[in-house]
Amino acid sequence: MDVNQSSPSGLAPYAVHASSSRGRRYAEPVCATRAVFQRDRDRIIHCAAFRRLEYKTQVFVNHEGDLFRTRLTHSLEVAQIARSVARNLSLNEDLSEAIALAHDLGHTPFGHAGQDALNACMQSHGGFEHNLQSLRVVDELEERYGGFNGLNLTYETREGVLKHCSRSHAQQLGDIGQRFLLGQQPSLEAQLTNIADEIAYSNHDVDDGVRSGLLHIDQLDAVPLWETHRREVVQRYPTIRGRRLILETIRGMVNALIVDLIVTTQQRLDTAAPTSVDAVRQNKSLVGFSLAMAEQAVLLRQFLFRELYRHHLVMRMNAKAQRIVAALFEAFTSDPRLLPVDYLAKEGQDQARLIADYIAGMTDRYAMREYRRLFVVDEV
Ligand code: MG
Repeated sequence: MDVNQSSPSGLAPYAVHASSSRGRRYAEPVCATRAVFQRDRDRIIHCAAFRRLEYKTQVFVNHEGDLFRTRLTHSLEVAQIARSVARNLSLNEDLSEAIALAHDLGHTPFGHAGQDALNACMQSHGGFEHNLQSLRVVDELEERYGGFNGLNLTYETREGVLKHCSRSHAQQLGDIGQRFLLGQQPSLEAQLTNIADEIAYSNHDVDDGVRSGLLHIDQLDAVPLWETHRREVVQRYPTIRGRRLILETIRGMVNALIVDLIVTTQQRLDTAAPTSVDAVRQNKSLVGFSLAMAEQAVLLRQFLFRELYRHHLVMRMNAKAQRIVAALFEAFTSDPRLLPVDYLAKEGQDQARLIADYIAGMTDRYAMREYRRLFVVDEV
């Protein structure tokens, strides 16, 4: 039995088919029970970096509350949305799911604040980009298999994980970096997962923002997408209040974004009629919202940026997080003997990169504990 050959019927010609994957970096025997992208998904779920996502910040630092999204629950929500969209467009659900589950594996502790701090520390050593780090995790850093470093994922999953990349890094990445130099697109499955990420965070951050008390429900009426759906919910349930009102409204927004994305993308696909994945890669980006919905999505994100991500309490936490990351980096670079033995550079290895790998792999609480162990005298 070759499950790659019997891929789900009804996949569009422009979908990625498991049977025509460009393959893995190290050749492996075909699996009898799972197609290549199912296997990628399974490898991601079983890896250590995936488990660490549970204790990494999305917006709120892990210890701030048990109900806020973490990178793990965020990744699961992205996977859910990506699969729904992929199925409706007759694209490869397994591939979209694998990309979604891996897309944030390279995130540092403390979210974007941590990434910015680590990037600043790494300036004279090639910088630090979290997308590139996600690829590094699946290509190099995971240690599970006898025959190779990393998870040895397929080209298509790796292509999707590397969402953005600077030109200088792209030049060093071989085939996977090519598209950034040639101005080409990744597969449709990668494109849609990217937008699923945006749909997920811009809605769950509204929920977490209100739950945390940093956003007030009345403020949200300044966002047209929210206002439209809140009105609809109140019309349907005139006495609805509190969390149910918030969650029903968010449900309406997520649904509207997904439906618009599917309808608009299908229209663009019908017009462009790409006949293969390679034709998709040569085309302009085909996955997206209608103009009107794109505008609404931008307004929602701008609101969150202004009112939540730049909220003074979030900024205070970010400043603390940045100091922790910078202090850890400084301590380890000035005396690498403080590092665990696994991270001591061997001949030909770049010590700063190993330190960045060590710090990027930390969960929020591990980073805080390590900070205390290094800087507080009575902490061991
Ligand atoms: Mg994400």
